[in-house]
Amino acid sequence: MEVMDLYSDSGLAQRSVDAVIQLAIQFKEKYGRLPVLMEVCGSHTMALAKTGIKTRLKGHVQLIAGPGCPVCVTDQKSIDAMIQLSEGENRILCTFGDMMRVPGSKYTLMKAKTDGRDIRVVYSPLDSVKIAEENPNKEVIFLGIGFETTIPILALAVREAERKKLTNYSVWMTTKLVEPVIRALLDSGEVKLDGFLLPGHVSIVLGSNSYQYLVEDYHLPGIITGFEPVQLLSSIYKILQLLLENKAEIINDYTFVVTNEGNLVAQSLLKEYLEPFDEEWRGMSAIPKSGLVLKEKYAQFDAKKRFKVSIGEPRKTKCRCGEIIRGLITPEECVLFNKGCTPVNPIGPCMVSTEGTCAAHYRYMREG
Ligand code: SF4
Repeated sequence: MEVMDLYSDSGLAQRSVDAVIQLAIQFKEKYGRLPVLMEVCGSHTMALAKTGIKTRLKGHVQLIAGPGCPVCVTDQKSIDAMIQLSEGENRILCTFGDMMRVPGSKYTLMKAKTDGRDIRVVYSPLDSVKIAEENPNKEVIFLGIGFETTIPILALAVREAERKKLTNYSVWMTTKLVEPVIRALLDSGEVKLDGFLLPGHVSIVLGSNSYQYLVEDYHLPGIITGFEPVQLLSSIYKILQLLLENKAEIINDYTFVVTNEGNLVAQSLLKEYLEPFDEEWRGMSAIPKSGLVLKEKYAQFDAKKRFKVSIGEPRKTKCRCGEIIRGLITPEECVLFNKGCTPVNPIGPCMVSTEGTCAAHYRYMREG
């Protein structure tokens, strides 16, 4: 049997669930409560729900989804800005598919497209550079969302546009960084956590050394892990072991792809093109230096500098995605869950995104 087969072996998964529950019982005996772990990766949220791990561990380990889904954390103002930008003359807007259905204050990018705006879904920011090259008489604007996994590709797209000497290409940057948001959550004291399941993909860029602040500043353990059931369970088991021994460490359980230092080429691309910015997050407002924007040297590719938009405060709704993202409530606590809000008719980004917490609950954990 191959190693990857082992990671999804159902017998081994069952034994792993039992082993995790045994440790969780010991934790409860020792501390008088359930251990609380947060995942900060939308793909982990989906994998934990889809594999049944969240359901199987319910009542033993509290697994909370944090701000790890890039679509979900993008603030409503960015959607409103993109819709406004799409209304200008000779514009082509490009974005990832999930963003099309995220409601802005008035409507979605999808609705703007059906109203005749030229809005295109691309799989990579580099596709939008090609569109700019093919349409020299139009302004092509890419909505650049994402965490450290995606941001280097945005920088690459700008480098490509620079290399091709394109004057009609720009990116509306609304990128997010993992460390500032984890710190903001922990410093807020809103949610009490015992440890983190750290994002696999983001860690490929950042490296395992980048999480030492959890240990040094918060005395919390964290484990970088993959997405297969046994892998996830093994990581939860290791975190519980650390907690029972009152140890805080960062463990790299995804050594296939994550190194101590991370991807140095991607990191140098970030440093070359981008600088920190006080980015706004859905439900959290601006967090100091929590995003990256293009340096002044690359202002010609910065849509925020090239185009004026005037957007007011976003429209308030009953959607509680802001609290979901911060791990304060579960989707079932939102009155709209599975009532007004479903994947077919989503009200908030957590139901739109294929990595959203509400979508994961709806698909795999819904009781009613
Ligand atoms: Fe928002 Fe829908 Fe989730 Fe409620 S169920 S928080 S409305 S996405």
